[in-house]
Amino acid sequence: MSIVLDLDHSTAVRPAAPGRPSLIGMSKPQLAQTLAGIGIADKESRMRASQLWNWLYVNGVTDFDRMSNIAKPVRQLLADEFILDRPEIVSEQISSDGTRKWLFRFRDPANPRLPPVEVETVYIPEADRGTLCVSSQVGCTLTCTFCHTGTQKLVRNLTPGEILGQMLMARERLGDFPGGSRPADGGLVPGGDSRAITNVVMMGMGEPLYNYENVKQALLIASAGDGMSLSKRRITLSTSGVVPFIGPTGREIDVMLAISLHAVNDDLRDVLVPINKKYPLAELLEACRNYPGLSNARRITFEYVMLDGINDSDADARELVRLLAGIPAKINLIPFNPWPGTNYGCSPSSRIERFADIVNKAGYASPVRTPRGRDIFAACGQLKSESERLSKKDRDALTG
Ligand code: SAH
Ligand code: SF4
Repeated sequence: MSIVLDLDHSTAVRPAAPGRPSLIGMSKPQLAQTLAGIGIADKESRMRASQLWNWLYVNGVTDFDRMSNIAKPVRQLLADEFILDRPEIVSEQISSDGTRKWLFRFRDPANPRLPPVEVETVYIPEADRGTLCVSSQVGCTLTCTFCHTGTQKLVRNLTPGEILGQMLMARERLGDFPGGSRPADGGLVPGGDSRAITNVVMMGMGEPLYNYENVKQALLIASAGDGMSLSKRRITLSTSGVVPFIGPTGREIDVMLAISLHAVNDDLRDVLVPINKKYPLAELLEACRNYPGLSNARRITFEYVMLDGINDSDADARELVRLLAGIPAKINLIPFNPWPGTNYGCSPSSRIERFADIVNKAGYASPVRTPRGRDIFAACGQLKSESERLSKKDRDALTG
């Protein structure tokens, strides 16, 4: 059983005001520069930037009028010039296992005539943590054959503000801001931690390393100690293997890395994860070996989807262990989550157990990922939206 909430759209919907830029997604120096750009003096703009930062990311405020330590005329000036845009919630679904999935809608404030785009974001509560699965793109340029998102063409990259907007909106819905209230089914929120969202995984729609700069900016803001303050050890970026950006991810964002491996030889990986033709296994694993800061306490997660009769033999398991030798690694076996129209099937549980056993015996603990939210289509690889890519002609007509 799953529940679809009937939301009160008068509070959930915050349509973007045409033309005014959103402050969400700006770094602190960008905020100060933007304030200086509307005539606020240099020194004051730095102070105001810090105050705004605190209101936006610590307190989750969406209305300039609530910024009590900012003088009224300045609040008015800010409201005239900027918006604090968050996505509109199109739907919120709750799975029988407590997983939540939102369909969020974004408009482009700079081009209000463009049709809005939609992405899915998922919250997975567990006993000791609450994980938010965030999207980086609308659709995906890649076409991994077992992935539902891969059947949707890339519509566009999400901006830093839109990536953060998913986190802010989820926090609000889960009562994570000061003064917020937990949802009625608040028992699903992990015990022991005061926050519902403790972890973030860039594992929603899209390939984060094909939107590197925006993902970097969003994650640096999300992990800033004086803001949203998510620990970098609790943020994981998953990539299908965009090799040139793996090193920069470690050096510049410094978050945990997950690799969608899924096959142990190039012939099969070329089919399952076609980016492999560009960056084959040897290059990918070399980039992993060189990932900055690797240690036994800081390992790379290798994701491996279990596809019946395709990549799930004992020989595959042994080859997997051999390939990863020498890399501080965790292995995550993901039972394939089916979607309408796929030709793949999930390996039987006895096969997954046998595969896991071989991997376990090689020293990798508890590797099978329990599918979450399958009933609301929220599990790995099931996310997709109806947003469609516009032709250049239509886009030009709408943006003038
Ligand atoms: N684009 C990035 C992150 C998003 S996908 C990437 O590919 O890494 C998150 C994980 O789910 C990836 O490992 C992806 O390969 C896997 N996945 C995709 N479709 C799946 C499906 N139908 N069942 C199980 N896992 C799937
Ligand atoms: Fe894109 Fe990742 Fe899906 Fe591949 S698995 S199509 S990279 S979202």
